[in-house]
Amino acid sequence: MPLQPSRTVAQLKELREVTGDEDGAQRVAWTETWERAREWLRGTLAGTGAEESVDAAGNQWFTLRGASERAVLIGGHLDSVPNGGWLDGALNVVAGAEVVRRIAGNGAPPVTVRLVNWADEEGARFGRSLFGSSAAAGSMSDQDELRQLVDRGGIALPEALAAHGVDLDRALDARSELESAAAYLELHIEQGPVLESLGLPLGVVLGTFGVERHRITWRGQAAHAGSTPMAERRDALAGAAKLALELREIAKRTGDGAVCTSGSVVCRPGIVTSVVETAEQLLDQRHLDAGKLAAMLEEARQAGERFAAEERIGVEWERIWSIEPILFDETLLTFCEEAIVEVSGTSYRLPSGPLHDAAEVARAGVPTVMMFVQSLRGLSHTKLEDTREGHLELAVGALDRLASKTIDWVAANDQ
Ligand SMILES: [Zn+2]
Repeated sequence: MPLQPSRTVAQLKELREVTGDEDGAQRVAWTETWERAREWLRGTLAGTGAEESVDAAGNQWFTLRGASERAVLIGGHLDSVPNGGWLDGALNVVAGAEVVRRIAGNGAPPVTVRLVNWADEEGARFGRSLFGSSAAAGSMSDQDELRQLVDRGGIALPEALAAHGVDLDRALDARSELESAAAYLELHIEQGPVLESLGLPLGVVLGTFGVERHRITWRGQAAHAGSTPMAERRDALAGAAKLALELREIAKRTGDGAVCTSGSVVCRPGIVTSVVETAEQLLDQRHLDAGKLAAMLEEARQAGERFAAEERIGVEWERIWSIEPILFDETLLTFCEEAIVEVSGTSYRLPSGPLHDAAEVARAGVPTVMMFVQSLRGLSHTKLEDTREGHLELAVGALDRLASKTIDWVAANDQ
């Protein structure tokens, strides 16, 4: 059966109908709508011979057994943020299903091919992203914290998981799924403006940025807004404000795609008649180079000390979360580049700012690569997220070629 990229576009629209509303995609993990999306996927793969299974972390697998147990994995996530886009995560699952269908139509492949729909990539309901893939990768180490998480409706994470057949204490059993994995492929929308600005439909992803996230607490002195002369103030917000501006310079000086974001500053007492006593600032820094990421963090800390001294206020740093940069597999990068050139003539290598399930799989030691397709206006996590249909079809074609090259490579190494 020949590949039908136009079917992928039609099916993505169908999925949007089944699981979205006028505000966008509503496939938040561990909800009924998400379950409906999983059922829908099951239906689209019926008749291909791919066997479905759900692992201990709730990841949904479709396995097409080949001559060898060594497996090429194609993965994405059907879960979305609330009011999300139609393509984020879903594109690769639906495109991957088309590739599986094409391969199944050609008889048993030389190696096993598996499509995985990762559970809760977005972390939209409980604030913990990459749930299913981190369990499968064995890197999930925060079960104690996960047990405490509650959603806005007061439902605890373990309870929500249980409603979908997942026992948090056993989620790490999903590790066994990657034992036979020889390669992992993920197609995703870029969610940024780079490919569109270059006029290119597709790009090879070098890896995912390392991330440093910190909470910075500035401590000054609350004082009356009317009676405290300017020179006498110890204003906690001044430190946060100076740092917010300095971060832009740090990112600019570091270059090579460096980004720094001060996403929130919460001031207390937070009233119009008082100098700010404490300002709690959130910082997110990302880079593909571990050394440059560490240097950016150090620069920010030093700037923080300087501003604290200037303003006669205190400053404390607390790491919230971090992940090292993850570089994808050289051989697979080459295959991905070849596949893109074959379908569209030109390829381009770029890093990924957002994290993806692919980063978890790569961390587990499985050779991994990602392919990006252009996002219009760089928008994602909104119903405005879009990609030209022609580009989506090229992406399905390129993913299919990448899968073929990878299958041949894994088969050759398996001899
Ligand atoms: Zn995604």
